[in-house]
Amino acid sequence: MDGEFSKDKALVLFSGGQDSAVCLAWALDRFDHVETVGFDYRQRHRVELICRQTFLLRMGVRFANWSPKLKADHVLDLGIMSEIGSTAMTHDLDIKMEDNGLPNTFVPGRNLMFLTAAAALAYRRGIANVVGGMCETDYSGYPDCRLDTIKALETAVNLGMATDIELLTPLMHIDKQATWEMAQELGGDRLVDLLIEETHTCYVGDRENRHAWGYGCGTCPACELRAAGYEGFAAMRETVQPAL
Ligand code: ZN
Repeated sequence: MDGEFSKDKALVLFSGGQDSAVCLAWALDRFDHVETVGFDYRQRHRVELICRQTFLLRMGVRFANWSPKLKADHVLDLGIMSEIGSTAMTHDLDIKMEDNGLPNTFVPGRNLMFLTAAAALAYRRGIANVVGGMCETDYSGYPDCRLDTIKALETAVNLGMATDIELLTPLMHIDKQATWEMAQELGGDRLVDLLIEETHTCYVGDRENRHAWGYGCGTCPACELRAAGYEGFAAMRETVQPAL
């Protein structure tokens, strides 16, 4: 690491999904210098990795105020997660609930590794803020998305690297409807439209079926959550701004 850690810089965990894209906008609204990091963990559907590149390019073009702050993008190889074990996210399995109450889309250790790798990269880049889209409000109960986990990990990485890096999770306590609302506040219709077109959430990797809320199969848990959140947001928007 060259020089001091900068509190004006942020590193955003950007997967190409809706939540992390809103986190990216949130960071661009607050910090002068924003870098992004994605992870290749041999996810079953590579479409996320393609979406994230397109989204970054279009964000740079469409938002002149944010473009100068949008800096390096990094993709780190975490293929080790595929070696460790099979889940519905990395192998071709049906999505179902396990006996422990967690869906088989849960990848054990995933967010712990993501955040640790991101904090290490932030150390190398002299960045004092790491931003992630973890949310404990209406997701599948993933224990590594809970605030307690994030706070414990923040303590661990800072003890382990002798740093004062903040792990910021702006979506932690809001639901999917409020995430769309946050996007609207940050970047208006242009950001909402970009999220619909270029972010990917669907667990089964569907980019063929276009709905009001974007592309996806429409029936997997991630699509259902995204659709329900968008419908609530769209209804609220109609009430606030009646269509002319
Ligand atoms: Zn789906």
